[in-house]
Amino acid sequence: MSETTTTDTTEDLRARALKLDAADPLAGRRALFALDDDGVYLDGNSLGALPVHVPARVQDVLTRQWGELRIRSWDEGGWWTAPERIGDRIAPLVGAAAGQIVVGDSTSVNVFKAVVAAARIASGAGEGRDEILVDATTFPTDGYIAASAARLTGHRIVPVAPDEVPAALGPRTAVVLLNHVDYRSGRLHDLPGLTAAVHAAGAVAVWDLCHSAGALPVGLDEHGVDLAIGCTYKYLNGGPGSPAYLYVAERHQAGFDSPLPGWNSHADPFGMTPEFAPADGSVRGRVGTPDIVSMLTLEAALDVWDGVSVDVVRAKSLALTDFFLECVEAYAPAGRVTSVTPAAHAERGSQVALRCDEAEPVMRRLIERGVVGDLRRPDVLRFGFTPLYVGFADAERAARALAEVLAETPAAA
Ligand SMILES: *Cc1c(COP(=O)(O)O)cnc(C)c1O
Repeated sequence: MSETTTTDTTEDLRARALKLDAADPLAGRRALFALDDDGVYLDGNSLGALPVHVPARVQDVLTRQWGELRIRSWDEGGWWTAPERIGDRIAPLVGAAAGQIVVGDSTSVNVFKAVVAAARIASGAGEGRDEILVDATTFPTDGYIAASAARLTGHRIVPVAPDEVPAALGPRTAVVLLNHVDYRSGRLHDLPGLTAAVHAAGAVAVWDLCHSAGALPVGLDEHGVDLAIGCTYKYLNGGPGSPAYLYVAERHQAGFDSPLPGWNSHADPFGMTPEFAPADGSVRGRVGTPDIVSMLTLEAALDVWDGVSVDVVRAKSLALTDFFLECVEAYAPAGRVTSVTPAAHAERGSQVALRCDEAEPVMRRLIERGVVGDLRRPDVLRFGFTPLYVGFADAERAARALAEVLAETPAAA
């Protein structure tokens, strides 16, 4: 490519980025977040950015609610009901009617609750269902915990790639645990189709939404998902370690037998009775005293979603990742990076994963230049596109910085 062509291409892509940003219905949302103007943050799929109004709200939780009202806040300040209340704020973002989502504990803990409860639900469907199918490419914690849940409940773990799930289903399948979007490649799996296949085999479908909630429509109710879990510190911007959520479809709530029945999941927690009697509804998914400070931080952070349509978010997310891929293709030295994220929109989440030799120094240098993505060892560069605060000029800038870093980082011989 000659110098002039390169300059023309850069001019052209920059001009297009400006046009796309000017037409972006979500462009105004960026000002709601604490971000540097001289950097590009492409790691919101790992830790979402801070909405600027949150610190004052958390300050109020600490100084007034805790500092002045003290124990009265459990009732008067709505602390006690926060897990269900915040669950109902997340519900529309994942296509769930109210009353089915409860917030609390980590994703890892909720994977445990969901898989054991699903195995118990499946055992009600008859004898001989002794297999738990788990996405073989899963984020490790889901796999570790599903394996332990299987040992506890007398099931066998069968690791299966998501596309091969339909062929692996059978009369022995009890539960299937799948990821909506693969954390490494950014591949979006077919939640409606796979859920239908799981149901046709008489099994229970558990979906992990960590990399889809807040980035694309999920449609939990519409697609008849049984149980789901997800974290809130990625696209939902809840803050480091913010509590996860658990969805139990209404039709399963009466049969949801939690492996962690705590006093907070009791029908009458202050009855302090020795016998456990589960609460009705989503409350049954609670365990112990909620982590109020983190939880109310999340609640405040969810304000950025007021008036936002997830369909608009999805449209922007696809346009952003398309544009980033186009810029990378135009700028990056030939053959240095290969996208492992599917080109087909129906199979793409909200991140772009590029395989790259020397991925480690490349990401380090990108971060030094203010373009923050992350690395999944050994050779994947991950760039998360959070439609609420990443724009098209950011995508163009990141691709240009990547090309410059690649040019100064020789590929391994
Ligand atoms: C981020 C993520 C987790 C994180 O689990 P924690 O318990 O919050 O550490 C789990 N599963 C998947 C698929 C994830 O992407």
